[in-house]
Amino acid sequence: MARQEDGPQDAPAVRLNGVRKLYGDVVAVDHVDLAIDRDEFFTMLGPSGSGKTTCLRMIAGFERPDEGAIELGGSDVTGVPPFERDVNTVFQDYALFPHMSVGENVEYGMRIRKVPKDERRRRASEALELVRLGGYEDRRTTQLSGGQRQRVALARALVNRPAVLLLDEPLGALDLKLRQQMQDELRTIQGEVGITFVYVTHDQEEALTMSDRLAVFNDGRIEQVGAPADVYEHPANEFVAGFVGVSNIVERDGRRVTIRPEKVRILEEPDRGDGFEVEEGRIREVSYAGMVTRFVVELDRGGELQVVRQNLEMSSQDALEQRGRRVRVGWAGEHAYAIPEAATTEEDS
Ligand code: ADP
Ligand code: MG
Repeated sequence: MARQEDGPQDAPAVRLNGVRKLYGDVVAVDHVDLAIDRDEFFTMLGPSGSGKTTCLRMIAGFERPDEGAIELGGSDVTGVPPFERDVNTVFQDYALFPHMSVGENVEYGMRIRKVPKDERRRRASEALELVRLGGYEDRRTTQLSGGQRQRVALARALVNRPAVLLLDEPLGALDLKLRQQMQDELRTIQGEVGITFVYVTHDQEEALTMSDRLAVFNDGRIEQVGAPADVYEHPANEFVAGFVGVSNIVERDGRRVTIRPEKVRILEEPDRGDGFEVEEGRIREVSYAGMVTRFVVELDRGGELQVVRQNLEMSSQDALEQRGRRVRVGWAGEHAYAIPEAATTEEDS
């Protein structure tokens, strides 16, 4: 197998060079360039159909690009079959063998490769410890919860310590609470094993909380690559501004400006909003969401803004009574970000 250590030490863990993939007339991935660092937690974020899975499958070797090249650790693997690549994949649907025990599932790949039984056992136990399922070797997978099954799938993928682990919406089938818990655990495990994770999700919050860096996909292309705070605070174009976080865009003096909802304040008397950009408007909509209340404020100068306010003192009754009220809203100038003109998506259809 082409181990990553064979390549130059400073080469990225994964590199896509001008990669393109067509299915008939459909351009699934369109000239994607990307370099993912070693030990990075890298996320591909984008709406359904934007080409994330296709990219992942090309990195794994299940699909071959029509144009461009794929490198792993500095070696070109474009024509190398999946089983000879130093990567492994975790899918949303676990793909565990139901007739095998947890231990047998984790050992499966090693058994195929004729790894001696003792070593198989030892390594499977280590992998299960890593995903907090130590001692579960003899359980049947059918006796496990969804979260536990996904951990078994993770242990099975990690057991050979691949250089790169690919995860395609692995938490998609779990309910919200469990998903948030697994997000934290995956992050911790990634830190412990020191393996490059390439994580696919359509959930912007998941991408923002988990990633070192993320790429925002749209229609087979990458719109922006950056650290979560970069992408959130300085979206490269309107697509990113709208997809990552709430789209709060107003046009002022010929520029299109985005202000995140948590940066906008509803000014209460006697607050004059000194040092703030202040505008007047009317609260058109209120939704109380427990921890926060969301307001939609129609601005007299045109456009509307979403405002999110923590419910420090406000009760649901107070919140709902705000509907229709005239208000002044304000934000610090530094939080209004003018979306770069040149970077907006070109019209190509
Ligand atoms: P994502 O994972 O972001 O939802 P995909 O990579 O699965 O997106 O799909 C990208 C585009 O390619 C979509 O338009 C999808 O319908 C198309 N596509 C993906 N796989 C196939 C396939 N095997 N055959 C035909 N079209 C496909
Ligand atoms: Mg997909």
